[in-house]
Amino acid sequence: LKNQVTISFLSISENVAFARVTTAAFASQLEFTINDLEEIKVAVSEAVANAIVHGYNNAEDKMITIEVKLYGNKLEIAVIDEGTGIPDIKQALQPSFSTDPERMGLGFVFMQSFMDKLKINSVPGKGTKVIMIK
Ligand code: ATP
Ligand code: MG
Repeated sequence: LKNQVTISFLSISENVAFARVTTAAFASQLEFTINDLEEIKVAVSEAVANAIVHGYNNAEDKMITIEVKLYGNKLEIAVIDEGTGIPDIKQALQPSFSTDPERMGLGFVFMQSFMDKLKINSVPGKGTKVIMIK
């Protein structure tokens, strides 16, 4: 482990941009290309937006935690909420599956395609931890 940071912030939509920029700034300690950093930003935005919208049903008084770890030349990001949880992870990962008819159901698709690895730990009623590696 080369470096590590943990940040917790309120579940308000302004913090999607904060999380995206902060994570990319930290990740830039590794030798990522501009394009890699853009992909990391999108993946983090999608995970944080999910925590706010789905995990907390847009409640603005909850906390989201991001843990970023830098190994050799690998980056691991965990986005953690203590919200509703995901009852069926396989289904949630299906392209264009969404529990909200207004949404595209593409967040996990982006996370999967922009990061090398995506892992989801989720317990209904307890919360969700999305781990991404690049
Ligand atoms: P989009 O991301 O395109 O706006 P979406 O958020 O519905 O649409 P995904 O991000 O792929 O699509 O998520 C798929 C589904 O997984 C969501 O509709 C939601 O039911 C569930 N989900 C994702 N993240 C969480 C979370 N942190 N807590 C609870 N449920 C979640
Ligand atoms: Mg989403």
